[in-house]
Amino acid sequence: MEKRQLNAVIDRLEKYFPEARCELRYKTPFELLVAVILSAQCTDKRVNAVTKELFEKYRTPEDFAAISDGELERLLYPVGFYKNKARAVKSAAELLLKKYGGEVPDGFDELIKIPGVGRKTANVILSEAFHKDAFAVDTHVLRVSKRFGIADGESPYKTELAVGELLDGNRLGKAHILLVLFGRYVCVARKPKCGECPVSDLCPSYMNGAAKERAGTANGS
Ligand code: SF4
Repeated sequence: MEKRQLNAVIDRLEKYFPEARCELRYKTPFELLVAVILSAQCTDKRVNAVTKELFEKYRTPEDFAAISDGELERLLYPVGFYKNKARAVKSAAELLLKKYGGEVPDGFDELIKIPGVGRKTANVILSEAFHKDAFAVDTHVLRVSKRFGIADGESPYKTELAVGELLDGNRLGKAHILLVLFGRYVCVARKPKCGECPVSDLCPSYMNGAAKERAGTANGS
């Protein structure tokens, strides 16, 4: 897919999802950090249900550093991998207190040193909490990018770079949100809803399939 086509895809998705926004609920960068850590292998809906209760009582790195392991694990149980996630959240809170005065840093190099934070989480925090040009690649973005012929669908890092080259910097954060929603609700993993897809005419997977079908029909097969 070329630059012009990907920009056209994002233009159309902006119209298709006019209310597009990050579906994780948070009030501060730290709450976003916790929510993104919890969202690994879990739906945003379930994370929001858990953080609704969690953030009523525990909001700051100080709160999370002081919480007992047992209590945190109990609260995080519904999001799965609760022991690992509890450990990551608590270690992250402790590191923020020790190194950053309890604030979430707004630099990529600092963010990825925080326990539980990889490239995807760091980029989500940069674009969502700090409005910086950053493109996060999750499972939906990886799949959709492959179908668009942007990247091989194997490497999130290569996908991040490929999209970064095709899109203007100031569109990256919004493009991430739009492609996540698009992958979640239209270009789904098993049976993509090509019949209702707003960008099917720009999708190489779809157009190649349609071309093959036409060729098959023309050959009488
Ligand atoms: S046409 Fe189908 S495969 Fe292509 S982007 Fe749309 S939903 Fe995905």
